[in-house]
Amino acid sequence: MKNIVVQKFGGTSLGSIERIKAVAKTIKKTSLNEFPIIVVSAMSGETDKLINLAKDISDDPAERELDALLSTGEKVSAALLAMTLQSLGLKAKSFSAAQISMRTTSNHSKAKIIDINIDTIQASIDEACIPVITGFQGINDVGDVTTLGRGGSDTTAVAIAASIKAERCDIYTDVDGIYTTDPNLVPEAKKLRSITTEEMLELSGQGAKVMQVRAMEFANRYDVPIRVLSSFKEGEGTLITKEISSMEQPIITGIAMQDNQTKFTLHGVEDTPGNASGILGPIGDAGIDVDVIVQNVSVSGKTDFTFTIENSDAKKAQKILESDLIKVNYDKLIVNNEIGKVSIVGVGMRSQSGVASIAFKTLAENNINIQMISTSEIKITLVISLKDMNLAVKSLHKAFNL
Ligand code: ADP
Ligand code: ASP
Ligand code: MG
Repeated sequence: MKNIVVQKFGGTSLGSIERIKAVAKTIKKTSLNEFPIIVVSAMSGETDKLINLAKDISDDPAERELDALLSTGEKVSAALLAMTLQSLGLKAKSFSAAQISMRTTSNHSKAKIIDINIDTIQASIDEACIPVITGFQGINDVGDVTTLGRGGSDTTAVAIAASIKAERCDIYTDVDGIYTTDPNLVPEAKKLRSITTEEMLELSGQGAKVMQVRAMEFANRYDVPIRVLSSFKEGEGTLITKEISSMEQPIITGIAMQDNQTKFTLHGVEDTPGNASGILGPIGDAGIDVDVIVQNVSVSGKTDFTFTIENSDAKKAQKILESDLIKVNYDKLIVNNEIGKVSIVGVGMRSQSGVASIAFKTLAENNINIQMISTSEIKITLVISLKDMNLAVKSLHKAFNL
């Protein structure tokens, strides 16, 4: 019995029939030694094209129909890839999320995987037929199609790898591994041989879209080793595992950035118990994720309360904050979407002090003002002006010798 590996191919990797043929050859090669289960994204640009079609009809298309529409992108690539594998003499079959019972929550466009019935996948393995599964989608409890958020095919792949107890999950993409920061923005970025699951979870959560954050949550919970590698050129890629064997961990492993954030400040909030939940409760109830949160010390019984969320939720959040769902009194709402978020991540921070002061000094030397700071054991996040974001990443990359 061959080892089972899940292999996921992203949009650029499947961007044309030529690319699909190249991917089929890679799968054929894998199949000589291992049994591949394939997860596919839509061909590059397809998901955006479908979103734009819907937006041509309505600014706010029905969520159920939007998900039904977006799920077709992955169906096209699954069928095309299955045909191509067959033309190479391999047994292969495409499967949609419904066909493999990929059950998710009902919140369209941000659904979370609940469980997968692996019987269909197992039956395909038993027949030595390579399953080619649509990423990014699931079905809810009434059988409607849901999607898992942009980049969600990564999550499909890792979730399938976890449930089938695959040897590992290979993520084939357009870069040849995980770099110290986005190599398309910082050409000096260096490729990492390995990175811990915990660090990649933080980098993804803070904007490194090379892995969707939910995929990293699954990898972390179910201990799935991941290899990120290029579908364009051969190479070892980067291994993401719980433990990495290097003798000396660097203090900082990588830097992530996000330019799609909005900052809300409630100015002059009456400082009484229950404030934070009074403001963020209705936001959370609407399914909006809040990231950095800062509340100032109150002066004369009044304080400022600031938090960041993704731009795509900004309109919805503003409506809530200005509605009578918010029982907390405040003087003024200030909305700023000209912000950037830069995060420095590394498990080495646990045993090393002074990382924050190097980061602050570096930004000060570059005349970059820090608007908000949030830290965890292995991460420092700095909210700054959007126009300063690229300079901040480049100078921090240099300051930490990455
Ligand atoms: P796919 O379509 O294969 O899922 P994505 O576009 O979602 O590919 O992810 C790959 C991209 O992630 C890269 O092209 C790169 O610009 C970006 N990226 C961001 N941070 C990093 C990082 N630290 N290392 C590598 N790539 C990164
Ligand atoms: N096709 C989806 C997207 O563009 C999912 C994915 O590529 O992972 O976001
Ligand atoms: Mg992706």
